[in-house]
Amino acid sequence: MTKVVIIGAGHAGGTAAALLRQYGHEGPILLAGEEPAPPYQRPPLSKAWLKGEADLEALLLRPEGFYAEHDIELRKGVTATAVDAAGKTVTFADGTVEPYDALILATGSTARKLALPGADRPDLLELRTLADAERLKAALGPGRRLAVVGGGYVGLEAAASARALGAGAVIIERMDRVLARVASPTLSDFFTGYHRAHGVEVLTSAEVTAFEEGGVRLADGQLIEADAILVGVGAQACDQLAASAGLALGNGVVVDETARTSDPAIWAIGDVAFRPVPVHGGARHRLESVPNALEQAKQAAAAITGRTPPTPEAPWFWSDQYDVKLQIAGLPTDADRQVLRGDPAAAAFAVFHLAGDRIVCVEAVNAAAEFMGGRQMIGRGTAVDAERLADPNVSMKAVAAD
Ligand code: FAD
Repeated sequence: MTKVVIIGAGHAGGTAAALLRQYGHEGPILLAGEEPAPPYQRPPLSKAWLKGEADLEALLLRPEGFYAEHDIELRKGVTATAVDAAGKTVTFADGTVEPYDALILATGSTARKLALPGADRPDLLELRTLADAERLKAALGPGRRLAVVGGGYVGLEAAASARALGAGAVIIERMDRVLARVASPTLSDFFTGYHRAHGVEVLTSAEVTAFEEGGVRLADGQLIEADAILVGVGAQACDQLAASAGLALGNGVVVDETARTSDPAIWAIGDVAFRPVPVHGGARHRLESVPNALEQAKQAAAAITGRTPPTPEAPWFWSDQYDVKLQIAGLPTDADRQVLRGDPAAAAFAVFHLAGDRIVCVEAVNAAAEFMGGRQMIGRGTAVDAERLADPNVSMKAVAAD
């Protein structure tokens, strides 16, 4: 019977284990991860959980008893250190060696560090794991001030949650706008305004040069005072095990449409994978999102159990800040223009990115119909009339039916 070993008990690994059983895999499954908790969801760590609106139980992907009930061996608190692809074994830090027939690498990503003076200060915070979130939460509260280095989604969400907990917050971004790498200028302007309206100081074109006692030093000499400093400057693939196995690497572990790596017995899924996106012409991307983790878990479980692969999906993502629900579908890589629908001043709008007459990405702020319609049209590759798309009096249904 085929033995499947899954390294990394996060969103992708935990889902793959459950799907293997659901798809009829009868052989042994070992799900091994280095964190002390069973597989849990990370999105609430910067949102509901941080604000005290969700407990640990609500974070868990499945109740802890699920794994034993489905004959999945869940090993927590163990670190895999090497993969021998020729011998088909995984070695753990305690010296244990596990053989496998099929191996799934679901090791996720790790917070990027800044090589700056003071970056090794023990009081610097990052936000990737439940343990990180517990430290951050303990540092927030009325009368405290949080400095967030990096104006990406995790940083913006943490700032919004800090405000909800009564703390002050300042966001320090080196580019000339927040979300510069991942969103349109319209979206950046909207979130900057929204955070400022909620009492967050937003500094752009501000380069951090050092972390000091009491705050963050900028290139212009200013000290930005803070009681807590969160560094949120992106994440890197945890691809060391894949490297030890000699697998092909790019921006993460190179995989095909079935999440299979350059070794036919090894799959890589979730944040660690550098995967083709068929809806966007098959170019490879490393996607850090829950929908990506779920889609790739399905791909790997289907391939291992000999099922038909799932239909490719348009990538999508969400972010919650204050009362704003942002939903993004697609990738703006080939876009040549943007079409605005709705009103940013009313906090209800969508930015559509078009390549010729096709939508390749939609950024929807409190605009569920635009998100749904845009996502469908991206998946189908249908042509749209940009003028009708921009007109909120024409329903998204009618735009899609053109
Ligand atoms: P992870 O969930 O990170 O799991 C990887 C696991 O592998 C970790 O537990 C790690 O400890 C373990 N591991 C690594 N190396 C080893 C090893 N050598 N041996 C054993 N175990 C190992 N996505 C969204 O779509 N929407 C959101 O709103 C959103 N918000 C987020 C907020 C925060 C604060 C964070 C951190 C992420 C957020 N994401 C969001 C991203 C999303 O959570 C990730 O894309 C998703 O968790 C990826 O799943 P994964 O299984 O690939 O990685």
